[in-house]
Amino acid sequence: MDMLKPEARSQLMAKIKSKNTKPELVVRSLLHRMGFRFRLHRRDLPGTPDIVLPKYKTVIMVNGCFWHGHANCPKAKRPSSNTDFWYKKLDDNIARDRENVLKLEELGWRVMVIWECQVKDVFKLEARLASIEGLYG
Ligand SMILES: [Zn+2]
Repeated sequence: MDMLKPEARSQLMAKIKSKNTKPELVVRSLLHRMGFRFRLHRRDLPGTPDIVLPKYKTVIMVNGCFWHGHANCPKAKRPSSNTDFWYKKLDDNIARDRENVLKLEELGWRVMVIWECQVKDVFKLEARLASIEGLYG
């Protein structure tokens, strides 16, 4: 797997800073530049995972910190009004995510969760994605 050239990496970092780029798009763009082949939103898999890498039997979920309840993350702070509504909604999301991960693992898939707040550090993200090949290839 190719690691990015420094120019390509700083280009991507500039793009993330200047635009409100969706985290999933950042991950997809990085995977693409690294030469991974992937499929998107496969409906035949539990939870319709965002990104699927069939060759490595790996799925990547790119999760928003708030909606998916990133533990100990400032972006995942819960609203202080309407608490019954929000706690139920967010707890349901977390339970559903957990169930989907278990189902995927039962089917033999490995699941990598990338949180929205982890996408800004392109260098770290890249190393993590590169590990997919090393660990699972
Ligand atoms: Zn987070």
